[in-house]
Amino acid sequence: MNSKYQYVREFETVDKALPNTWLVVRIDGRGFHRFSQEHDFAKPNDRPAIELMNRCAVEVMKDIKDIIIAYGQSDEYSFVFPKSCNLYSRRASKIASTIASLFAANYAMRWHEYFPTVKLKYPACFDSRVVCYPSDQNMRDYLSWRQVDCHINNLYNTTFWAIVHSGKTETAAEEELRGTFSKDKHEILFTNHNINYNTIEEIYKKGSVIIRQKTKVTTISPNTGQPVERIKLVPTPLYVDIIGQEFWDEHPELLTK
Ligand code: ATP
Ligand code: ATP
Ligand code: MG
Ligand code: MG
Ligand code: MG
Ligand code: MG
Repeated sequence: MNSKYQYVREFETVDKALPNTWLVVRIDGRGFHRFSQEHDFAKPNDRPAIELMNRCAVEVMKDIKDIIIAYGQSDEYSFVFPKSCNLYSRRASKIASTIASLFAANYAMRWHEYFPTVKLKYPACFDSRVVCYPSDQNMRDYLSWRQVDCHINNLYNTTFWAIVHSGKTETAAEEELRGTFSKDKHEILFTNHNINYNTIEEIYKKGSVIIRQKTKVTTISPNTGQPVERIKLVPTPLYVDIIGQEFWDEHPELLTK
């Protein structure tokens, strides 16, 4: 095992994430603007595309048990690890690369379940990073930042595509929206396109939050052959606000890990 080449190992730099901090891994689709066009995603929000992203995140959470909560919107997903996590001795590149490849492999493997009539033209690819957050507040602010981003983008995209679908060019839609505030977009949607933004589905406005929910599952006992019911923690997508206090009060276990 100890060859004269062994010394090159020493060139590997230490990239251990700071101890006792929340770890957030965020993956983001590479060139998904083009990917969504090439695969005819509905605009502004392709539902199967969102459901495939959520499925991949659920599979990641089933495999990597340390993750306590995940948040996804558009072509990105964030996975949160508790302060006590010691996965790969907290080596950042190992954690980031494992999550990204697990996610991407699931995306290709499960594509046909969500797009049975659309051929996957080329593999989807995701970049990945790890960020440490020292305090609970920092971690919550991180998630709030992503959910606010979802809201702002969704309001813009919903208005943009309403204008385009009404027959205007994309350039004209961009022009019409330049310099507008949130309330102007609500107004354009309501007055010109008969859309009440508040009635748009939560999955689009809020993004997806995945937590491990206590779920009743039925399995067949190998001994008796009879069905047995038990409670299992199953990663489950919810479309809820995570900015306010209510969500964190409802799930106190998230902050006591
Ligand atoms: P980069 O490689 O820098 O991330 P990108 O083209 O992926 O570039 P993003 O800023 O990540 O750019 O934006 C993702 C794009 O993917 C969005 O602009 C949106 O058009 C598209 N997209 C992602 N999910 C969906 C969806 N469910 N329905 C429709 N379009 C989507
Ligand atoms: P870790 O997750 O720590 O990397 P590992 O099980 O992947 O654990 P490695 O040290 O990376 O362990 O070793 C890879 C293993 O994969 C080898 O022990 C070998 O048994 C198996 N393997 C890889 N490629 C082949 C191959 N082409 N044919 C047969 N076995 C293979
Ligand atoms: Mg980007
Ligand atoms: Mg992207
Ligand atoms: Mg993105
Ligand atoms: Mg290996």
